[in-house]
Amino acid sequence: MKFICIGRNYLAHIAELDHELPSEPLFFMKPASALLLPYHPFFYPDFSQEIHYETELVIRICKSGRYIEEKSAHEYYDAITVGIDFTARDLQRRCIEKGHPWEIAKSFDSSAPMGEFRRIDSLKDPSEISFGMKLNDEWAQQGNSCDMIFSFDKIVSYVSRFVTLEEGDCIFTGTPRGVGEVHVGDKLELFLENESIFWFNVK
Ligand code: MG
Repeated sequence: MKFICIGRNYLAHIAELDHELPSEPLFFMKPASALLLPYHPFFYPDFSQEIHYETELVIRICKSGRYIEEKSAHEYYDAITVGIDFTARDLQRRCIEKGHPWEIAKSFDSSAPMGEFRRIDSLKDPSEISFGMKLNDEWAQQGNSCDMIFSFDKIVSYVSRFVTLEEGDCIFTGTPRGVGEVHVGDKLELFLENESIFWFNVK
């Protein structure tokens, strides 16, 4: 199982980090050890002084495929949840400046907490999925899939040109605006369509 993460998929977030508008999806990967196990806290890593949360919709691949056409891409994912793409922003800034890969900033252990999956066909409108995250019981980020630059289908099709998608792979689909820092002692609670689906503490 692997995590594939899309960067720069919401206009307002691209503006807040002063990035360029992508003409094609930008993606990077996290290893299986990036999963934060249920009921475990997130331990603030010692290699960063600036860990940011990015709250994202996550889709789960239900059958293997390569060179998937956009028109049949919907057959390759069937479940959705909300997760956090934890980012060591200080290290990421340094990687970008030097033109280095992002792994040390993005792919560290426990950098991909996520809630339980829901079947996409159980949602009332799969083209308008609302989600969000409360930081210490206050809304920190709220988004809607209708604001994505690249749709789930486009993402699945594009990624599968380079990497075989396998059953159980998870795709983080990008963060809306409002990213920010976490601190030791924080509680993060994730919401899918206003239903609380997961929470954890930062230690
Ligand atoms: Mg992200």
